[in-house]
This record gives sequence, structure tokens and C-alpha cells, in this order.
Amino acid sequence: MAASRKTTKKKASRGKNRKYIFVVGGVMSGIGKGVSTSSIGVILKSKGFKVTALKIDPYINIDAGTMNPTEHGEVFVLEDGYETDQDMGNYERFLEEDLPELNYMTTGRVYQEVIRRERNLEYRGKNVEVVPDVPLEVIRRIEAAAVRTNADVTLIEIGGTIGEYQNILFLEAARMMKQKAPRDIAVVMVSYVPIPGSIGEMKTKPTQYAARSLNSAGLQADVILARAALPIDEKRKEKMAMLCNTLPNHVISAPDVKSIYDIPLNFEKDGLGDILTNILGLPSRKSDLTRWQQFVRKAHNGKREVTVAIVGKYFDSGSFVLSDVYISVIEALKFSAYSLNLKPKITYLNSKDFESGKLKLAELKKYNGILIPGGFGETGIEGKIKVIEYVRKNKIPYFGLCYGMQLAVIEYARNVVGIKGAHTREINPKAEHLVIDFMPDQEEKVSKLEYGGTMRLGTYPCVIRSGTVAQKAYGKSKIFERHRHRYEVNPAYILKLTDAGLKFSGVSPDRRLMEIAELPQNVHPFFLGTQFHPEFLARPLTPHPLFTAFLKAASKRKK
Ligand code: GLN
Repeated sequence: MAASRKTTKKKASRGKNRKYIFVVGGVMSGIGKGVSTSSIGVILKSKGFKVTALKIDPYINIDAGTMNPTEHGEVFVLEDGYETDQDMGNYERFLEEDLPELNYMTTGRVYQEVIRRERNLEYRGKNVEVVPDVPLEVIRRIEAAAVRTNADVTLIEIGGTIGEYQNILFLEAARMMKQKAPRDIAVVMVSYVPIPGSIGEMKTKPTQYAARSLNSAGLQADVILARAALPIDEKRKEKMAMLCNTLPNHVISAPDVKSIYDIPLNFEKDGLGDILTNILGLPSRKSDLTRWQQFVRKAHNGKREVTVAIVGKYFDSGSFVLSDVYISVIEALKFSAYSLNLKPKITYLNSKDFESGKLKLAELKKYNGILIPGGFGETGIEGKIKVIEYVRKNKIPYFGLCYGMQLAVIEYARNVVGIKGAHTREINPKAEHLVIDFMPDQEEKVSKLEYGGTMRLGTYPCVIRSGTVAQKAYGKSKIFERHRHRYEVNPAYILKLTDAGLKFSGVSPDRRLMEIAELPQNVHPFFLGTQFHPEFLARPLTPHPLFTAFLKAASKRKK
């Protein structure tokens, strides 16, 4: 009986008329396609639709895990351990959902699957071709993600910009889907509308070219989100609609905003939700954005400033500073600050500058709190260790994430326990005291050069010891957090470290892995590091308890 009911339910969910919205970029990248996709998600969700979001990245890498952060930005780790693009983080934060691996694909991943299936004779002797077999695999994945999340509406963001050679097969997938079920597919083009300083006028021509390139891929933009410094005026809306072959009210203003969380509200002011449901033949429903509005109000109303310096090393790109690499950390700080009615002010300090002497350690005194995020490799590490020593001694609130925790343990070993030459195997495998060493199964992987997707990845449980800063923050004795690391605190040194006052307040259930290190509150106002990445679980309406505890301590500090 139960089984048959289950089957019927399954069939019903399969038979659901699912809708798909492709989001593509015009003119140039980096104009907020991910945030636009997420914002559409928030609006449709607020209308009572079940929404999911997928990201397609055009590169050959199987996932984002093997790319240098300065090249690619943050690597966002999903619950199931898949290493993805930072846009997946935006989707999870805006939609307040944990998304599965299926919701992320790259060219490499798609080809890998096509080739695997070919080797398994799954094409039954057919000639396997780039078109249609590659786009068909893309479609298979999109539809599988929609079924898996049981979505009414699936948003698919195609990375890169229209006209690029790289994403043509993904546009072809969209075209094939649209050809089969025209009413089920909508195309949104997020396009940049420049206002050149020398002219002082908003120019629509680049968007016209982008629309035409999209047409040459057999697709028509149903909606254009006009990304510009300013709101687009009626005259240009009409011109753009006429020349890009859409309706004037389907050209939506997307000006620069103070907070990205304003965007769903701005889009909804222009009626974007109804426009999309109308195109897709979905029932017209009122949106309820009350909770979102409350959050946005908090984001704007914080009066008292709390200043945090992120001491990182992936900031430099030529003469420019990149903060995208730490986007989840930055957003997590914001959510906690808003929940405490604080106004966060975040500064980026390059740890390499503490090594060269360009920055003096006393600079750190200017901030309410210091945060060292995750990282890999050697550059800037001694600078980070110096920073940790300084904030520990000067009682400046400190929060270390992953590498930031491992380096705090090294600093403590060197300067408090007195273990000269304490180090991590990652940097100096020959060091006398490898206080941070390989996790048990990692040495073999590295020796075989099996790097991609082989770290300790995704969600694991952690037991919290009572009477600790961590326990006070979480209010729980068991938590689940996401990980991404190859090294760990070497069990051989645990006793020495704890005898000298460092507390491991969070451990794996088998007590083998040290997941949180902290100093007691009577010794330091806040000195805590996590082997995991709490930033991946911070959500606008449910900020992360450790970030909140850190900012609470920071806001109490008198500078
Ligand atoms: N490089 C360290 C490790 O692999 C820390 C990783 C991180 O900060 N994500 O263990």
C-alpha cells in the first residue's frame, strides 16, 4: 500500500510541468548575473513556487577546486562536498536552500560524462557527436536537477558572455529545450549599459549587439536586465526593446545598489515576477517578500560601526584588489552584523605586506576584530602568523577559518609551547615539528598526484565540548559544518598544546580530528579557529552563530 502511494507521488512529480529560465550575460562579465539569477529565485519563491538554481561554467576544469582563487574567485563547497563557483553560494544564501552537486556543471564535467557513457556502450553503437550529444547531456543534467529538487521553476545561469566561443554548446542546449517546449522556457539577458564619462549618456548599442549575437544562437531574450550605474529611462527602454525585439516593460532597470539584497525588491517593483510567470504560463500569484524586506531594513539600519580586517593573500590582480575570493566570509560577517544592529566595515589587508614591512603590526589595533580566512600554500604565511601572535598578545578578537585555525595552532606551538620550528607539512615537509600534518588518507593521494576533488570535502559532524566559547555560541553539543582541507592538527602534539592552555572545543565524533581551537574567555576576549568553513552555512535570515559571537566580542572592544 505504502509502496504504491509512493509510486503515484513519484509519477506526479515527474509529470509536473516544469519551467526553465536561462540567464545569460551580455556585453561583459562581472555585472552580477549570479545575483540577478538569485534575485529572480527569491521573487518566484516568494510567490509560492518551488525554485532551484543551476550554474554552468564554460571551462574544461571538472570543478572549481583546482583553480587559483585569484583566477576564479571563491571556491564554494556544497553540502555533498562538490567544489563549485561562488555563484552557488549566492543561490544558497538568497534561496536559503542547500543545493546538490547536480546543480553545477562545467564543460569538463559534461564531456567527462559523455565520454564515460560512450565507453559504457550507452550510445549503442551510434556516432557520438558534439552536437547534439553534448547539449543533450547538458539538458539531461538540467532536467535531472529539476526533478531531484522537485522544482516548479529551474534557473540556469550560463557563465561567460554571449558571443564567446566557450558557451555556445550551452546556448544550443537552451535552444533545443525551447524548440521542444517553447512555453516552458524563458531567456533573461543581463546586459551592461555603459555611461561613458566623456559622453555622459547611457549607451544601448553594446546591448543591441549582444541581443543580435544571442539571436544568431537561435535564442531571443524575453527579458533584458539593464545593468548600469543609473536606472534606465523610458526613452532608452523603448529604444532597447524595439532594437532588441522585446517589449518595453520587459526591459528592467538594474542600477547599482548599496546592498545586493535590495535587488529582489527592485526587480519586483518593476513587476519582474509577473512578467516571468506570464511568459511561462504559470499562474499569477502575489509575492510575499515581508521577511526579505525585514532583513533588508536591518541591513540598512545598523548605526554603530564594527570594523573587521580580513588578513588574506588572494587580493592582488594586477593593480586591482579582489575581494570576491572571500565573498562567503564577507556576507557571513554582514548577516551577523545586521542581526546585532551593527554596521559592518570590512577592510582587506594583504598578509604579504606584513612580511615586507609595508604594513606595521600596530595597524591591527585600529580594528575591532581580525579574521584570517582559508588558503593554500606558502605565500604570506609568515605574515599571517605574525598577525596572529600580535592579536593573541594584544587581546584583539580573532577568528581563524581553516588555514586561519591551522596557523593559529602553529603560532601557539611556536610562541607559547616553545616548539621552535613548528610548521605545517604543506609548506615545509622537512620541518622538525609538523604540528599540522597530512590527514591519514591524504599522503597517498598527493603522492599519486590525485589532487582534484580529493581533499576532505563537504559536511561532517562535530561534537562540541561543554563550557567552551564554541558551545556558548552554538548552544548545541553536535553540529554539522562544511570542510575543505588536506591537513589537520597532528594528534602527536595535542597534549602539549592543551597543557599550554589551547582548548580543542570541537572534535570529530571519533575524537580523532580537532575541528575547533580556542582560548578560554578569561584569557582572551575571543580567539577561535575552525578547521571547517562556517561561512558556507551563513544565511541572511539565519546568520552563523560563530560569526555572531566573533562580532559580539569585536563590538565590545575599545580601540
Ligand atoms: N591549506 C590547508 C589544508 O589544506 C587549509 C585549507 C583551507 O584553508 N581551506 O588543510
